[in-house]
Amino acid sequence: NQKVVLITGCSSGIGLALAVRLAKDEKKRFMVYATMRNLAKSEALVEAAGRTLGRTLEIRQLDVCDENSIKACVDNLPMRRVDILISNAGMGMIGPIECQSIDEMKTVMDTNFFGLVRLLKEILPGMKMRKSGHIVVISSVMGIQGILFNDIYAASKFAVEGFCESLAVQALRFNLNISLIEPGPVITEFESKVYEEGAKIDLSKADKVTADMFTNIYLKNYNQIFQSLGQTPEDVAEHTFKMITMENPPFRHQTNSLYTPMTTLKYADPNGDLPIETFYKMVFEHDKVFNASLNFLKLLRWRSRKSFTLGKEKNAS
Ligand code: NAD
Repeated sequence: NQKVVLITGCSSGIGLALAVRLAKDEKKRFMVYATMRNLAKSEALVEAAGRTLGRTLEIRQLDVCDENSIKACVDNLPMRRVDILISNAGMGMIGPIECQSIDEMKTVMDTNFFGLVRLLKEILPGMKMRKSGHIVVISSVMGIQGILFNDIYAASKFAVEGFCESLAVQALRFNLNISLIEPGPVITEFESKVYEEGAKIDLSKADKVTADMFTNIYLKNYNQIFQSLGQTPEDVAEHTFKMITMENPPFRHQTNSLYTPMTTLKYADPNGDLPIETFYKMVFEHDKVFNASLNFLKLLRWRSRKSFTLGKEKNAS
């Protein structure tokens, strides 16, 4: 009795890595429907899937911004059954809001937030009926903490988190699990696409201080942050795999222990000033603080590599 897994956004990055990781499970516990908006972009997945293609992995079309495409995809699954839904498709956006159009912002919300809502409207009723299912959502640390010049992206991930937190109470009644996976920076096409788009922004609508902050502080440090804190998509896939195969998966899971000191600041101060002031100091007060923090985080990474365990795996049944 294989579990049916449906994953969105599998043409690259975390979605691709996770689809392949599940399809290659030695115990063959999963039948993976790896979906993508544009099937013409399936080459990388086809190659990585290798011999699992047509066996434990099938590629299907699904655009999270199009209800009809979601319905058509689910209608074509055996008995419309999805045991594990992995909502992964998403997009980023950086820059000063003065320079972004409302339409561009709506596209981010539509993909990252309403994309998840559309999936659940189609898939949740079946899970409720069967009283079994696991909804896994690739959120972000930006779903719990805002970051400079990521205003709209963070808002979209906060929306995802609020939505899931509300739904999780109802889900308990139906014996369903919901898990939010919260990666820090991950080195994927996401990062390069976001940077390229950011570097092209017409900053003429922003004042000089804002434009300078974006170009000379944010963009300048962007690559360094990914290089020093960045995880691989395979690493995030491994964390997610463990969440899926755990007996009692937690509601939230951060994949990057380097990042936990930052998110912990939020819970340390109910007034909410501590993380904001700390980020301000890191970014503006001096490079030294920033570099010291990075070195501290590198040390934590070195230590955490040695102790990467995530609870016991569920036995094959
Ligand atoms: P990625 O760009 O490689 O993957 C995102 C995928 O979503 C792409 O394959 C893209 O084609 C797809 N997608 C976009 N719009 C879609 C739509 N309308 N319908 C279907 N698919 C669509 O980047 P990634 O890093 O693998 O991102 C996966 C998830 O991880 C996203 O939700 C992202 O927000 C989240 N995340 C990424 C990072 C990071 O630093 N890369 C950090 C935290 C969270």
